[in-house]
Amino acid sequence: MTINQSGWKPEMGDGNAPAGTTFTGNRGLMLEEALIFEIGDSHTTGVDLDAAPAIASRLSGLERNREIGLPGLSEPETVRHYTRLSRQNYAIDLGLFPLGSCTMKHNPRLNEKVARMAGFADLHPLQTIDTVQGALGVIHELAHWLTTLTGMPAVAMSPKAGAHGELCGLLAIRSALEARGDARSVILVPESAHGTNPATAAFCGYAVENIPATAEGRVDLAALKARLGPDVAAVMITNPNTCGLFERDMKAIADAVHDAGALVYCDGANFNAIVGRVRPGDLGVDAMHINLHKTFSTPHGGGGPGAGPVVFSEALAPYAPLPIVEKAEDGYHLVEEETAGEHHADSFGRMVAFHGQMGMFTRALAYILSHGADGLRQVSEDAVLNANYVLRSLEDVLDAPFGPSGPCMHEALFSDDGLADGFTTLDVAKGLIDEGYHPMTMYFPLVVHGAMLVEPTETESKAALDQFIGALRSVAERAKAGDEALKSAPHFAPRRRLDETAAARKPVLVWKAPEVAEAAE
Ligand SMILES: *Cc1c(COP(=O)(O)O)cnc(C)c1O
Repeated sequence: MTINQSGWKPEMGDGNAPAGTTFTGNRGLMLEEALIFEIGDSHTTGVDLDAAPAIASRLSGLERNREIGLPGLSEPETVRHYTRLSRQNYAIDLGLFPLGSCTMKHNPRLNEKVARMAGFADLHPLQTIDTVQGALGVIHELAHWLTTLTGMPAVAMSPKAGAHGELCGLLAIRSALEARGDARSVILVPESAHGTNPATAAFCGYAVENIPATAEGRVDLAALKARLGPDVAAVMITNPNTCGLFERDMKAIADAVHDAGALVYCDGANFNAIVGRVRPGDLGVDAMHINLHKTFSTPHGGGGPGAGPVVFSEALAPYAPLPIVEKAEDGYHLVEEETAGEHHADSFGRMVAFHGQMGMFTRALAYILSHGADGLRQVSEDAVLNANYVLRSLEDVLDAPFGPSGPCMHEALFSDDGLADGFTTLDVAKGLIDEGYHPMTMYFPLVVHGAMLVEPTETESKAALDQFIGALRSVAERAKAGDEALKSAPHFAPRRRLDETAAARKPVLVWKAPEVAEAAE
């Protein structure tokens, strides 16, 4: 076995590391780790397999004629490789994750325990209905609580994320409009909307038009009313909005939209700020997605699993996608295209192969039931309290553009106004990494210059908030004083400033052996 873990090779160091660097490249307990292709080799393996029996090939000459080239590691090398990589990741189980608009809160372990119960975790989506009554019961009960909490009569459980839920909502809106012979072509979206809103509308073939915000950061009702007309299919409004403010005019907005023959889509990603206190159905919303992975604490981030059920008003309920779980005398039924019957004849179809994200459903239901009505109300109250504590603790050092107009909801919004010349929001974010925090959401929403959006969530204690506030205050003071060292932060992370645009636009996703890469140059 070769001793080559972590990619260290003899030529990499002569034992006399220059000051500030180390022989291994490691820094204290922060370990460097190379790609598995660089540390593995094709003859090491962690398993001892019998030789495959000789069989006649039926591949007609299409057999592989080269080594497959998979890297091999022993079991301890494999375990260390992935453990080292995992330690380079910031996680909600490691510390406060102030990423605004993402509701990065603690995921209770009870949820995990429930999701791993064999009766849920080991099911197959093609099992016969009589063997999965419990799972269908979970979907049905979660649907009940989602419609109860939102005050909406129907819900589609299958969409797999917020953005997927938006697509579901707009497809239902289009079906409803087409059913009355009134296909319309425009979706109105406020300036502060999450990028997924205009993207979804465009994906559905609609023209997207912006509605301006007032100086207070809310939808300009007069401008919205002025734009409404027979070509407008729907408005997509986030409430609480992405400036962390409650849209107080929501009812008036919905009335105006309905009077103009259009429908109201609400982006419910920020439901955590109002759950248990406000029912979107009472505000005139026709469709709203709920990010179970945000409000109902199922793990997310890094493209992990999500679930975006969509609640519907009476007007849109008939167009909801299938499948739907229904309860009958003899148990739960799964209504699919073949069994839809007249009752669901107007459904616009289906969005996913099976029934949705079962693991997220079990976690979300465990979360809802363990909190109860009083617990959920306290969730939103504490989330709002924590955000206001952050806002008021930092507004003397960071510009809070909407601070003067009153309390915020679940997130505190700051701008780069007042930082020293040449210092940016990016510098503040990178400085936070050195302080041991994942940065806040930056440059979003677009209505604020150099936006920094901090969402602490209800699961942080006052002590944790005070430490975070201290760290952000210190970084902000350095950015205001023009501390040049901040411009090259982070100094203590495994990597410094990366070319993030190139990483996003030209990601290198395929490893090439050095000889091959050289030959290609
Ligand atoms: C997170 C979020 C979305 C998108 O949700 P995904 O589950 O990531 O697809 C949409 N709108 C807002 C305001 C969000 O915060």
